Amino acid sequence: MNTYDVIVVGAGNGGLVAATEVAKAGYHTLLLEKHNLPGGCATSFVRGRFEFEPSLHELCSESSSTELDGVSGIFRDLGVDVPLVYEDTLFRAIVKGEDGYDVTLKAGREPFLDSMEEAVPGCRESVKAFLDLITPIDEAQIDMNKNGLNPIRLFQDHADFLRVAAHSADEVMNALGVPEKAQHLLNTYWGYLGVPTDELNALHYLSMIVCYIDGHPSMPRYRSHELSLALVKKFQEYGGEVRYNSEVTRFLFNGKHECIGVVAGGKVLYAKKVISNVIPNNVFNRSDERHISARSRKLANARKIGMSVSTVYLGLDCTMEELGVNDYSVFVMSDKAPRKQYENRQNFGMYIVNCLNKVLPDCTPEGTSTLFFTVPFFPGDLPADLTAQDYKKYKNALAEKYIRDYEKVMGISIVPHIEEISVATPVTFARYLGTPDGTIYGYASEDWDNIIARTAMKDADYDTKNLYFCGGHYIRGDGYPSGYITGHMAATDVIQALKEGK
Ligand SMILES: Cc1cc2nc3c(=O)[nH]c(=O)nc-3n(C[C@H](O)[C@H](O)[C@H](O)COP(=O)(O)OP(=O)(O)OC[C@H]3O[C@@H](n4cnc5c(N)ncnc54)[C@H](O)[C@@H]3O)c2cc1C
Repeated sequence: MNTYDVIVVGAGNGGLVAATEVAKAGYHTLLLEKHNLPGGCATSFVRGRFEFEPSLHELCSESSSTELDGVSGIFRDLGVDVPLVYEDTLFRAIVKGEDGYDVTLKAGREPFLDSMEEAVPGCRESVKAFLDLITPIDEAQIDMNKNGLNPIRLFQDHADFLRVAAHSADEVMNALGVPEKAQHLLNTYWGYLGVPTDELNALHYLSMIVCYIDGHPSMPRYRSHELSLALVKKFQEYGGEVRYNSEVTRFLFNGKHECIGVVAGGKVLYAKKVISNVIPNNVFNRSDERHISARSRKLANARKIGMSVSTVYLGLDCTMEELGVNDYSVFVMSDKAPRKQYENRQNFGMYIVNCLNKVLPDCTPEGTSTLFFTVPFFPGDLPADLTAQDYKKYKNALAEKYIRDYEKVMGISIVPHIEEISVATPVTFARYLGTPDGTIYGYASEDWDNIIARTAMKDADYDTKNLYFCGGHYIRGDGYPSGYITGHMAATDVIQALKEGK
């Protein structure tokens, strides 16, 4: 049968939650995925005797308020139970150079404030004031979720939310008198949203860092693939149908410009509603443009494509202790300020090295360990003259450059212990995810196109009838939680529309 209530395109984090929730509500649902396995970024791969985590550094599973949607609540409601392992440090931040620093910050609000105070004596109160802003932000969000966006009400009842919402993270920290070094430490996570903190919306950044600080970074036991498999299993238990190796090549519309289905694997499939986990650019490229409004097309063209990464995955023939590694997550930076790190990104501006064995000692065979390097790449960062013939040489040189630098920074020897190595670049992510420039973060969050503007303009911006979106490219920006939460949002909208016969 080729007719469904709902078709979900893409089995990434967003598509998996959207599909499972719609199927749970009793709707006849088809999930289409171009690969032979689910998850998108949330997957795993095997080289030799190692199973690597390709993307997840840390999952932020709890939301900052129990009244706001968070990963654990969404999973609980769907009946998906994946035990998580929690890490007690947030990260070790190393800034190179004579006036640099080497600081490890703990997870948990009080331990975090203690470790900040130890690193920057006298900063505690201002840092606390910054983090405490999450309370008025959450209250405003809860109010808007219940009562809609009402500017007068926001002015009257949520003044602190409005004060923060229009400013960058740096502006808010300056206003609160957070000392410079404490700001630099607090800003370490900017790369997780792909925007330096002088431009990054304070509300967006606060929501993310408080979630990590209060909730602790977490990991599933069997890589992020375990999360994706658990969701697919539930989806199928709820009666959903999944088709792998089914790339959607065309979105279909009727004469009233309403989406009515898709073409996948040469088959025409119809649905009352289509949810796309695929970035709008790729949806519009697979649609007859007469059916996409001028506003939607202009928006897709105006938006800046977000960050990608190059990554190096190492399987090592010794334990992390033998290697001399003690930390889960190490940020290595050439300068203290995020803007400088960003500008210097081609020359060690900022990179992250994770050792999963710290959180999950038995994630690799006995006597071995793994390291995972992440280097931010923005559209245009790959050499314009890079040819297919030179690509392998280029990525191997990139891997060696970062491994050698990390050896120097940590005073350890890695190269003689490499048993397996795999290197990915934006080209890899472009091929695997199918995203423009290999973006892993959807669209860049800019001041005119940030989480606030996107949320406020959601209904006007996504104006194709019967076509819904979810994933890192949607209104909340990137990340596992955003993927799952926007999947939940799309499912809620679709279920409501179907119930109301709209
Ligand atoms: C190296 C790396 C490190 C990261 N670290 C973290 C982290 O520590 N914490 C965090 O929260 N986030 C992290 N992220 C970001 C996070 O992984 C993403 O933001 C999130 O997973 C995106 O989810 P999504 O729902 O947009 O789906 P995606 O993962 O983009 O999946 C989309 C799916 O759609 C499929 N698809 C595409 N086109 C079609 C088509 N035409 N037809 C059918 N199927 C199609 C794809 O194959 C894919 O399965 C990281 C990402 C990477 C790559």
